[in-house]
Amino acid sequence: AASSESVLIVGAGHAAGEMAVALRVNQYVGDITIAGDEPHLPYQRPPLSKAFLSGEISHERLHVKAPATYDNANIRCLPNTRVTAIDRVAKTVTTADGRTLGYGKLVLATGGRPRLLTLPDERIHQAPNLHYLRTIGHVDALREQFVAGNRLVIIGGGYIGLEVAAVARKKGIDVTVLEAMPRVLQRVTAPELSEFYARVHTEAGVKILVNTALTGFEFDAAGKITTVLAGDGLKIPADVVIVGIGLIPNVELAEAAGLAIDNGIAVDEYGRTSDPDILAIGDCSSHPSAYAGRRIRLESVPSALEQARSAAALLVGQLKPYNAVPWFWSDQYDLKLQMVGLNQGYDTVVLRGSPAARNFLALYLKDGALLAADSVSRPQEFMVAKKLVGDRIKVDPAVLADETKPLKDLLATAPAA
Ligand code: FAD
Repeated sequence: AASSESVLIVGAGHAAGEMAVALRVNQYVGDITIAGDEPHLPYQRPPLSKAFLSGEISHERLHVKAPATYDNANIRCLPNTRVTAIDRVAKTVTTADGRTLGYGKLVLATGGRPRLLTLPDERIHQAPNLHYLRTIGHVDALREQFVAGNRLVIIGGGYIGLEVAAVARKKGIDVTVLEAMPRVLQRVTAPELSEFYARVHTEAGVKILVNTALTGFEFDAAGKITTVLAGDGLKIPADVVIVGIGLIPNVELAEAAGLAIDNGIAVDEYGRTSDPDILAIGDCSSHPSAYAGRRIRLESVPSALEQARSAAALLVGQLKPYNAVPWFWSDQYDLKLQMVGLNQGYDTVVLRGSPAARNFLALYLKDGALLAADSVSRPQEFMVAKKLVGDRIKVDPAVLADETKPLKDLLATAPAA
């Protein structure tokens, strides 16, 4: 076993890289080890459906921290190391290749994995032209099929599906998006925004089919998908299929160790699980949110980073609760979408600016208070909106819609609560 002055981080993703370095910045002097199952140092996933997929940036540009940072900060990185079990009494973990690693504090930063299609056809798991998108490995496997002239069918009209569609169109790929729900981005935004993004994609040549569920595939003799079957007898010829239907948090390791799970590994505002020597951060964890008034699990870089910093502070004895209002971004074509807050339950949506000019905000209110905001290519106003949503200001919708009234004038407005 390791000395009690040691931190073992399981998973080498965005949260892990940030936390390891934040510990050193906070003068943590014990051993720090990151054990991750991928063959890479911690890297950023957002470019996997954006500039890395398009080929504009290379592997090197994905690093969360420059590779030399780990050596310089005396952080031990163990790639290709899958942790398979935790022994909370001995304070050790076991790896898939039979090693035992000790810990003083254990940090679970295991992220999540793509939700798989559940069609009762085993061939989908072998098809060489069916892809998911979570890792560098996934993108590398997809590359040679992601070329001009190919016909791509995307299953799922969420962020990842639409970002991939945008990159694919720029590359001259023929794109169809299948969405089972009545509109794209249904789970995360209002009809106004869905309609806007559907229009942008349609204008770029993407065929968007809503209310259209995947029903199956046709394969050639080699097991390759030739046709996507959907809706009521629809047959869509396909050279390549990309599935983006959501994420499953990697909680099994924690669950098997008897830690509390609640839509993610349940942690408090400092990242502590139900075992005080084990923390969890990032996509795999669910935390109490004062903003939402309930426990939530987020899948976003800002929350992974902030949770990592909060957990790193805790381990040097500083209490910095993670209590941010959730926010997120998505890049499609030339458009920068930024979203703050969770708009579930809104009763009024106000548009400020012009969807036709591809430059506007959608502001969501509930009982007269500002609940959430989506910004399309208005980064300055978004910064202001973030503060206003954080304060849940009470505001007249007409004022929000009036572009002659600067949004920042509302910063003086008293919070609703
Ligand atoms: P991850 O980055 O997933 O890292 C977890 C790591 O742990 C993985 O490498 C995993 O393989 C490893 N692991 C799991 N189990 C074990 C084990 N037992 N042993 C060892 N290792 C293990 N967020 C945004 O805010 N904006 C965006 O625009 C955006 N775009 C995205 C686009 C794509 C294509 C994807 C996939 C994600 C995107 N996200 C975006 C989400 C963002 O990338 C995640 O929120 C972030 O990566 C979470 O970091 P994490 O460290 O919690 O998990």
